[in-house]
Amino acid sequence: MRIKLLMAAAIALHISPAFAHERAVEFPETEDGRVILAADLHTHSVFSDGEVWPSIRVKEAQRDGLGLLAVTEHLEHQPHKADIPHPDRNRSYEVARDTLEKSEEDGLMLINGAEITRNQPHGHINAVFLDDANALLVDDPREAIKAANDQQAFVFVNHPNWIPHAPDAIARLTDYQLGLIKEGLIHGIEVVNGTLDGHSEHALQLALEHGLTVMGTSDIHGLVDWTHEAGHGGHRPMTLILAKARTKEAMKTALFAGDTVAWSYDDLLGRPENVEALVRACLSLETSGYPDETSVLPVEIVNECPVSFTLNNVGDATFQNVGDLVHVDRNGSFTVQVRTGAVSPSIALTFEVLNTQIGFRKALELTLDMQVSGQ
Ligand SMILES: [Zn+2]
Ligand SMILES: [Zn+2]
Repeated sequence: MRIKLLMAAAIALHISPAFAHERAVEFPETEDGRVILAADLHTHSVFSDGEVWPSIRVKEAQRDGLGLLAVTEHLEHQPHKADIPHPDRNRSYEVARDTLEKSEEDGLMLINGAEITRNQPHGHINAVFLDDANALLVDDPREAIKAANDQQAFVFVNHPNWIPHAPDAIARLTDYQLGLIKEGLIHGIEVVNGTLDGHSEHALQLALEHGLTVMGTSDIHGLVDWTHEAGHGGHRPMTLILAKARTKEAMKTALFAGDTVAWSYDDLLGRPENVEALVRACLSLETSGYPDETSVLPVEIVNECPVSFTLNNVGDATFQNVGDLVHVDRNGSFTVQVRTGAVSPSIALTFEVLNTQIGFRKALELTLDMQVSGQ
């Protein structure tokens, strides 16, 4: 129904119905005034094994409403070398940067990055916020990780549940990777990877256990429209960064502090405090008060985020109009008729937020409360 209304609105405004799904994601601020920006820090272009010119990565990210993008070519894996034999591993970043500089749209920030690519036990490891990707093009991958850290890069393990490296698709860290983590040379881990359709509650567990930042990325090689239905109700997996300001430096600080939530489909994965801050930014309660002669209070659950929520009521009060399972559409709302027992000046609803993961197969539980005006 909402889609039909949006389509009608789009047609009335003479814009393409393809954009009626509010493709560009936008999140409200957290209660403590932090911005929530969408980042994709793992993407490819023809300068490694991707299928598009880097300019497309920028334009696509602008359509998706990203705040931060990195094009992270495989340093070593260069299958288009016969056609694009460029020795400079910063080249795709430079092409993307030129595209962004010529663009009239603002909002997107771009950083340099690279994927250090080996078999296990090293595996695939991304470094972003690089000054010079060429310095990482060395034989010993450990030296590449050190070179990235010398540039104060943010470094994270990619797709630890990738089937060629983990045939049972259970994410594990190798002893080699654990050594790098112990030395402080690795700072994050992907729990979602869009190209491999990888979603890993085991990787989330590893992130929590080792104090690593929770990352969600597209690892896109083709177009997000093809694989993630972008513009048609879908979106690429992203890292939502909770930062003090809309600047690269603030994004970097938040990444090192671990202030992120990975977002894929409607799943939100992260440390409990970050997921809670995000959900509280999205959801709030509204009511116009008790109708006469009843203690059943209509309460609208308002969702200001482009994520649909599935809530399980675990509080004492039950609802007159619906069972305990409540679905709140993205950028929408749902009204529950709460049997409060007696007219009360305030109301609190406690939900398990079923589309969140704050631990191994564990959803966030939170209480939303509100004063009832006129009582
Ligand atoms: Zn990879
Ligand atoms: Zn990749």
